[in-house]
Amino acid sequence: MAAYNIVDHEYDVVVVGAGGAGLRATFGMVQQGFKTACVTKVFPTRSHTVAAQGGIAASLGNIGEDNWQWHMYDTVKGSDWLGDQDAIEYMCREAVPAIRELEHAGVPFSRTPEGKIYQRPFGGHMRDFGAAPVQRACAAADRTGHAILHTLYSQSLKYNAEFFIEYFAIDLMMDETGCRGVVSIDMATGTIHRFKAQMTVLATGGYGRSYFSCTSAHTCTGDGNAMAMRAGLPTQDMEFVQFHPTGIYGAGVLITEGSRGEGGYLTNSEGERFMERYAPTAKDLASRDVVSRSMTMEIREGRGVGPEKDHIYLHLEHLGADVLHKRLPGITESAKVFAGVDATKAPIPVLPTVHYNMGGVPTNYMGEVIKPTTANPDATVPGLMAIGENACVSVHGANRLGANSLLDLVVFGRAAALRCRDILKKGEKQKPLAKDASDLALSRLDRIRNANGSSTTAAIRKQMQRTMQNDAAVFRTTKTLKEGIGKLSQIAPMLSDLKTTDRSLVFNTDMIEALELENLMACALATIHGAEARHESRGAHAHEDFPNRDDENCLKHTVAYVDDKWNVKLDYRPVHKYTLTNEIEYIKPKARVY
Ligand SMILES: Cc1cc2nc3c(=O)[nH]c(=O)nc-3n(C[C@H](O)[C@H](O)[C@H](O)COP(=O)(O)OP(=O)(O)OC[C@H]3O[C@@H](n4cnc5c(N)ncnc54)[C@H](O)[C@@H]3O)c2cc1C
Repeated sequence: MAAYNIVDHEYDVVVVGAGGAGLRATFGMVQQGFKTACVTKVFPTRSHTVAAQGGIAASLGNIGEDNWQWHMYDTVKGSDWLGDQDAIEYMCREAVPAIRELEHAGVPFSRTPEGKIYQRPFGGHMRDFGAAPVQRACAAADRTGHAILHTLYSQSLKYNAEFFIEYFAIDLMMDETGCRGVVSIDMATGTIHRFKAQMTVLATGGYGRSYFSCTSAHTCTGDGNAMAMRAGLPTQDMEFVQFHPTGIYGAGVLITEGSRGEGGYLTNSEGERFMERYAPTAKDLASRDVVSRSMTMEIREGRGVGPEKDHIYLHLEHLGADVLHKRLPGITESAKVFAGVDATKAPIPVLPTVHYNMGGVPTNYMGEVIKPTTANPDATVPGLMAIGENACVSVHGANRLGANSLLDLVVFGRAAALRCRDILKKGEKQKPLAKDASDLALSRLDRIRNANGSSTTAAIRKQMQRTMQNDAAVFRTTKTLKEGIGKLSQIAPMLSDLKTTDRSLVFNTDMIEALELENLMACALATIHGAEARHESRGAHAHEDFPNRDDENCLKHTVAYVDDKWNVKLDYRPVHKYTLTNEIEYIKPKARVY
């Protein structure tokens, strides 16, 4: 192996990721007085959190009565009863102080006329245990994520957090005591930095890029999930992936549901308005899952549009230029920029698009990572936490409500810091790392930098993304899932025959993309295997051969382990069927109403 220039650091806490979750944890850690490093592969304010528009849920009751119990009920129901109710109780109760803290930290929320934080309605958020919609999503115009991210970054700097920007975390350093830190590469110079820490916090976001079409940034490659799996730890409930029907073909950029609200409609290659067949009443305005599934059926049956017959048209041109410019200016511009289409004259190519990953590294409600054992399904891994979309707490269970993800980031980012306050000692001396602590990371790096096989990263990635999009997306049957597993078991080993061309260490994006592809592959495998084994329909996992929810056999969390030969091992752990305090009782599963 080539000799790498290695720099060693020692911190109380190292946070990997600077999205909403990573920054909230970093801010909390430095506030507690911990010497904290935040390692991030993109500049903090470019993290995907910046794209969140709609809002962050909390039962402030600023516009009409509300309380955390109602919020909790909606979240449990949204999760299709797979969520852990102790964690959901914690999140919904702590939402109120967490938002107040954000307000005091300087987030420029929109205001009501009397000066309170403005709250808007959001899908699934109701009053009185499901009786009627409530205004619960706190918003900073349509730039809520942007506002939160910028505020948290400036607060972290104020308290002297140390940022390592454009540093790519490669792998965790583990020993018999647990996690000891993380190995990363400074992308600008190629220098290796080993961060030894009492606590490592994974906050690397989701893995939307395992699929061909997703609304998330190119950086959402599941790095934290894969690092955990390479360390022999599980991911949980990865089969639950939330889709939005209209992402722009290729780019994935979101076209709001409002476009169909204004009278837009979908057609297939025969020019047919096929939604009339699937949902005769609601048609193009049927629920997100129904529209996404119908589009996928059309494509699977050969009626997709375009040269590869792999997408669908969204027509807005009949609405006229006036309506489009007045009511839908943003998406008219997106269509032009990302699809090269003038929406006043031609249809927009669209595809059901991955929007959110409910699965991730299992944790308890304090952010501590869980590795179940036979004796204890909730056993924790010393020195390791996970938060945000990287984690599976599990507050979203089988499906996430809108505005609950930004909330998850700040509540559990804050919880991680509170837990560290209780279990760590500032500046405590750490024992030296084992000699081979960074071997896993460096041997991967070296292998990939010098890979001289025959398949490029782009070629392997495209095959993986197509397989996930066709066989493990919104339309799932035993046959498609089995076929998908078959294909992925051929595609994943192609990584042993990888070809990279850049051998340098300075901004070697060829190498970074290949490292990310390995991460995506591990996530894709955990997802499709988990889906194949779940013989029911629950939340975002709609299985055509098992259309009903099966609480008797399937009300359990899937845990998936992926080894270095791409073998997947599945296991299960119980859902927490209890709440945190006795102020609210466990909410028992009820029949689904669509
Ligand atoms: C278009 C869009 C709109 C949305 N709108 C809303 C909304 O209105 N309300 C809501 O509640 N939710 C919304 N969501 C969901 C929510 O925004 C995300 O789930 C959330 O922002 C994820 O935050 P995060 O901190 O976990 O990760 P991210 O914001 O994705 O940040 C990940 C961080 O990890 C770092 N990182 C990753 N890998 C590495 C590595 N190997 N080494 C070093 N650093 C690494 C990155 O640099 C980045 O800083 C939306 C999502 C999208 C995509």
